[in-house]
Amino acid sequence: MSLRVGVIGGGQLARMMIAPAVELGIDIRVLAEGEGMSAAIAASAVGDYRDADTVLAFARDVDVITFDHEHVPQPVLRALIEAGVAVHPGPDALQYAQDKLVMRSRLAELGIPQPDWAAVSDVAQLQGFLDDHNGRAVVKTPRGGYDGKGVRVISHAEEAADWFATLAEDARGGDLLVEELVSFRRELAQQIARTPSGEMLAYPVVETVQRDGVCAEVIAPAPHAAARLAEVAREIGEGIAEGLGVTGMLAVELFETDDDRVLVNELAMRPHNSGHWSQDGSITSQFEQHLRAVLDLPLGATATRQPWAVMVNILGGPAEGGLAQRMPAALAAHTGVKVHTYGKDPRPGRKVGHVTATGVDLDDVCYDARAVAAHFA
Ligand code: ADP
Repeated sequence: MSLRVGVIGGGQLARMMIAPAVELGIDIRVLAEGEGMSAAIAASAVGDYRDADTVLAFARDVDVITFDHEHVPQPVLRALIEAGVAVHPGPDALQYAQDKLVMRSRLAELGIPQPDWAAVSDVAQLQGFLDDHNGRAVVKTPRGGYDGKGVRVISHAEEAADWFATLAEDARGGDLLVEELVSFRRELAQQIARTPSGEMLAYPVVETVQRDGVCAEVIAPAPHAAARLAEVAREIGEGIAEGLGVTGMLAVELFETDDDRVLVNELAMRPHNSGHWSQDGSITSQFEQHLRAVLDLPLGATATRQPWAVMVNILGGPAEGGLAQRMPAALAAHTGVKVHTYGKDPRPGRKVGHVTATGVDLDDVCYDARAVAAHFA
């Protein structure tokens, strides 16, 4: 009988697990939030992931439950564990990807380098942090943020007054996270795969380029990375994977600071945009690796196929005609560049696909990837 994986969430990450699942003979099933989601082709159920009964019913016939996103509430995750379902990553690990304040305090305990931070419960406390940090800081909502939503650079505490008001209305209450405004040279990401048995493999550290808080490009491996920098990033990633008991794929977003430190920004415990290059640039893609890891199968090699891989996101997409209409010209523009689409309606700023180029000369690889992506702009 095939191994059966249940993925909660029908977005593009679930969609991109489907092809490797088919190759490995894994029966993949998706609990989608609605009809017509990215991963609809594998959606065996449509329902609310916040409802324990829905999730328990979905989990009945699978060997392991994993995720397309980290929003499944802790009580639902605990109900799965109590029902004897294997859940990877498990709730104890996932809590650190669900709440940035919980993550910051645990990473502090583990001695992992991160920006100065504090939990603040009102405008006065936030102003105190600003006063201690040259009058500028980054304030974040601990839960539910993505693509820069829930992140604000501020110079007056009043600029976060609306968020304090929203938190006060939230039954769960709680504080905001404030961080020093890190002066960074660039952003990096380190991915680690870890199995329930404890096997662990690192991918090369990559450079990520953000525009308006959204990932625009990824270069793998990070250019001009000293061997020591790559080692430091890997050690941080492995320390977190082990320290938090992560199973499956872990992505650690990092800042390389102007004064040569490496600090953790945030975590994702699933395949991540910073690892999409691996579909075409690595022996084992992050999607295949995630399936192997959550099923406790041996991990696949993480070596690169070519010296460089560059991934460029397609954001928003063409206003008219959709991606399909642009596809022939895009594919003709460079036959070596790979196009991946998510089956989503184009909306401004929305990630609807990506392209990946690989090769020997980084300038050429960047040019090719951007040229093909431009066909979909
Ligand atoms: P999200 O959860 O929405 O992805 P992040 O915490 O990753 O939010 O922040 C989004 C972007 O904001 C980061 O990629 C980075 O460019 C910038 N940023 C976040 N925290 C800081 C910080 N402490 N200092 C400077 N820039 C930051």
